[in-house]
Amino acid sequence: MNCLEERIIKDGVVKSEAVLKVDSFLNHQIDVNLLDEMGKLFKEKFKDEKITKILTIEASGIAIAVAAAKHFNVPVLFAKKSKSNNLGDNLYHSMVHSFTHNNDYDVVVSKDYLKQDDSVLIIDDFLANGCALVGLCDIVKQSGASVAGLGIAIEKGFQDGGKKLENLAIT
Ligand code: 5GP
Repeated sequence: MNCLEERIIKDGVVKSEAVLKVDSFLNHQIDVNLLDEMGKLFKEKFKDEKITKILTIEASGIAIAVAAAKHFNVPVLFAKKSKSNNLGDNLYHSMVHSFTHNNDYDVVVSKDYLKQDDSVLIIDDFLANGCALVGLCDIVKQSGASVAGLGIAIEKGFQDGGKKLENLAIT
């Protein structure tokens, strides 16, 4: 059992049939030592891949992506759920349905930071129905970069995200 599995058993709270709360250590209050261990595990898992960038989605993917990026020594890029004026119009877009808020976001990433020669590790905290990861893969595809891997902290295997991603042939 790894450090995250142990922590979920100790401090995770099953909120409803489909929702696990990990607010006390992962996505509200953050245990940085746990995240550092998770970052190391991601590095170990993808040690043979050439990774030039880690891509995630705001907000709860960011801390995990940063912890992993430290071990890969690459930048983190996160898809934004709202388009601020500072971003300009040079953007990749993808529509993502939010599992937690039950609404749709036009998520954006600046074209300045994702290029054809990038090899991208996509990281997120949860895999439920796969909408967030499919949207991130779509953005990578638009940029002409390649997806080197998908790193999920917690996959809820009873939901169909894993199958959706298998069908995309990126696992
Ligand atoms: P998906 O797009 O795969 O349906 O859902 C993934 C996103 O929804 C993740 O970015 C995560 O923030 C959120 N999410 C999905 N399931 C859970 C859950 O059980 N607990 C929490 N805290 N977030 C979840």
